[in-house]
Amino acid sequence: MREIPRLIFNNEIVARRADLRKVNQSTPVLKNKGALNIIFFDGMPLVNKTNSQTRLTYLFHDHWLLTHVDLTVFLGLYKGKSIFAHNILKDRKDSSHEDTLGYFNKRIQNDLMLNMSYFLNLRNALTDISDEESALAGTGKALIHWNLNNKYCGKCGLALSIKNYGWERHCNSCNQHHFPRIDPVIIILIISGNKTLIGRSPHFPEKLYSCLAGFVEPGETIEMAAKREVQEEVGLKIYDIEYVANQPWPFPSSLMFGLKGNTNHTLLDIDKNELEDAVWLTREELKNLLKGNYNNMLPARPGTIARLLLESWVRNEI
Ligand SMILES: [Zn+2]
Repeated sequence: MREIPRLIFNNEIVARRADLRKVNQSTPVLKNKGALNIIFFDGMPLVNKTNSQTRLTYLFHDHWLLTHVDLTVFLGLYKGKSIFAHNILKDRKDSSHEDTLGYFNKRIQNDLMLNMSYFLNLRNALTDISDEESALAGTGKALIHWNLNNKYCGKCGLALSIKNYGWERHCNSCNQHHFPRIDPVIIILIISGNKTLIGRSPHFPEKLYSCLAGFVEPGETIEMAAKREVQEEVGLKIYDIEYVANQPWPFPSSLMFGLKGNTNHTLLDIDKNELEDAVWLTREELKNLLKGNYNNMLPARPGTIARLLLESWVRNEI
């Protein structure tokens, strides 16, 4: 059987149920005792580690942590139960961000019911969180981020009210409706004969190499964006661009379009502001990189669309 490389954040397990979002937030129709609650601090979900798997920590409706929440969004129905994502106040009165995190961590450690839970950067859980829970955490993180960064109307500057349980904001002054923003990004496997190009941005973790990527600009198709990005970053002209797969990427709110494209050239003109390095690897060399056989290079992490592109190409599947 063909083994499809894993893509996290891609699971359809949550029934989004837009109809239920319209329930007035002050009525407890959805917030019954059986509802599931997950919580974030500064974009990090509260998790626990069970048998080397990272699991989300679910809170009872009357848990003390939920009294420190400044935003709640409704994700939908998960296994028939309402699921809410909450944001914990980042800065308590007269406390710094770090002090606040320390305060909550200490109280969490003293709470036996929380089963050694802690707030974790989702990027550090890519390989050991389940597909289902990655979707819950990813959607919650992205939606909370949008709400926290869109408190005021971009048209008239006045405060926005929350509608539809966090899925919309509305300006009561100028009547403008605001919806969660998603940023399209292309990521492309560039092929020249038996070689593919990988590069590293200055922002990547140490030694990490991946496919080239960039934001789609207004007025562009994803193919146009891919051509422009590759030309800008490494000076190559590409053609025969094909769509392969896509992935929601909640850092903070992207939708990654995984593509592949060909080029007749291999000579690189690297824009050092965008890329620290870029190299061509043969299929055999890439196979070795994916196996972890290089000391000075690491491949894109499992669960990412870049990893899917690289693995699929090594296996001759794309
Ligand atoms: Zn307005």
